[in-house]
Amino acid sequence: MAKLYLVPTPIGNLEDVTLRAIRILKEVDLILAEDTRVSGFLIKHLGIEKKLISHHQHNEHKTVSSIAESIAEGKNVALISDAGTPGISDPGFLLVRECIKHGIAIECLPGPTAFVPALVNSGLPCDRFCFEGFLPQKKGRHTRLQNLKLEQRTMIFYESPFRLVKTLEQLSQVFGDDRRASVSRELSKLYEETQRGTLIELIEYFSKKTVKGEIVIVVGGATQTSSLEEESEDEVEKD
Ligand code: SAM
Repeated sequence: MAKLYLVPTPIGNLEDVTLRAIRILKEVDLILAEDTRVSGFLIKHLGIEKKLISHHQHNEHKTVSSIAESIAEGKNVALISDAGTPGISDPGFLLVRECIKHGIAIECLPGPTAFVPALVNSGLPCDRFCFEGFLPQKKGRHTRLQNLKLEQRTMIFYESPFRLVKTLEQLSQVFGDDRRASVSRELSKLYEETQRGTLIELIEYFSKKTVKGEIVIVVGGATQTSSLEEESEDEVEKD
């Protein structure tokens, strides 16, 4: 029976592609790619000669049903994104949901994704965490952050270098200057860097330079006592 394969691709270092990812990409009938030019480079590097079909956030709503049909008719399909694991802040979810609806088998290969190395590098507890991805840029941003005020798990955010300092400032307004956090930049690449400290220390550090590259912010959760204090303060305010 044909399947949908979700195939993670490197987030920077091309050596991070797995042997199984290469085999599956060679074997499938169709490869769907978020940006055919970006993935074309990887596919060529891996020695795979296959036409890539465009599947991105602007067309996925329209194409998921025809892709599911192709798989149901016997074509094995792989989905890749520009970098990392499809479905993680990238297209993937809609296609997976459509395939489940049609009883199509799905296999997501384990592989590169940016949030796992950022979390583990942070030195913050990684036994319990929540992945927040990109915060909304305007509408809903404040509410999303306020809803995290009492979050006790370590929190992970994706961010662009241009908004890093502004976002760190907003995080410190919600969680306090002294909350521990880390910023991982350019994971697996030549200029990989992880800075750890309190939010105020990270703001000071990154305000002094031009920030470039791809960024993951990891923020420690509220301690149980501080979240209880916040809760009782809120209750007093309500009263
Ligand atoms: N699907 C990807 C994954 O599995 O992590 C995420 C894709 S999302 C469109 C791109 C964001 O992921 C970047 O803005 C950055 O926040 C994070 N990211 C991707 N590669 C990274 C890297 N090498 N270093 C740090 N962050 C990275």
